[in-house]
Amino acid sequence: MIQTIKRRGITNEEVLNAMRAVPRHLFVPQEEREHAYGDFPLPIGCGQTISQPYIVALMTELLELKEEDKVLEVGTGSGYQSAILAEIPGVEVYTIEIIPELAESARERLRNLGYADTHCKQGDGYYGWPEYAPFDSIIVTAAPDHAPQSLKLQLAKGGRMVIPVGPQGRYQTLWKFVKQPDGELRAFDMGGVAFVPLTREDH
Ligand code: SAM
Repeated sequence: MIQTIKRRGITNEEVLNAMRAVPRHLFVPQEEREHAYGDFPLPIGCGQTISQPYIVALMTELLELKEEDKVLEVGTGSGYQSAILAEIPGVEVYTIEIIPELAESARERLRNLGYADTHCKQGDGYYGWPEYAPFDSIIVTAAPDHAPQSLKLQLAKGGRMVIPVGPQGRYQTLWKFVKQPDGELRAFDMGGVAFVPLTREDH
């Protein structure tokens, strides 16, 4: 897996070390374990998926994390991406999952695997986590059809947000937003990706 993601262009040593450290097979259902280190997404139940290793590594690299950064993840899923983020030295992780069953099992898995400092919440991540904002980085692992204003507002100045945006069931564009000192966001197109849709709670 590490050779594959290196070959595909991942160079950040902290990201590569995190990918080496986290036991991906413990984040997928028993029957998928033998495929856990292949470079493709896998089902994790409730109609959801764990993203392929290269995309996890790419999105983590694009966040440009550094010590003492506070990072928000929308879409905990299995907890794998949260664990990768937690392996980056000095980074504090907040993660939100909308499906109660997945939120609960990821919370337990992260606790059992030594990532008890990761802050987990069940809810609609469209609104971010205002109590802990601003965040130095935000990573969204499900695709909305627009970048939520609430997340843009919860990004610190100098902060980076990586988010797939586009229509359901087709390819989306992976965007990297960087908040400028004047509060404006600069957007960078990082190419095509395929994510499950960001769903919403009824309000
Ligand atoms: N990062 C996950 C992992 O490492 O396993 C994979 C994420 S999966 C591709 C997308 C996840 O986003 C699903 O678990 C889905 O339930 C969740 N999701 C979708 N809409 C959401 C929302 N509005 N708020 C929080 N989570 C959401």
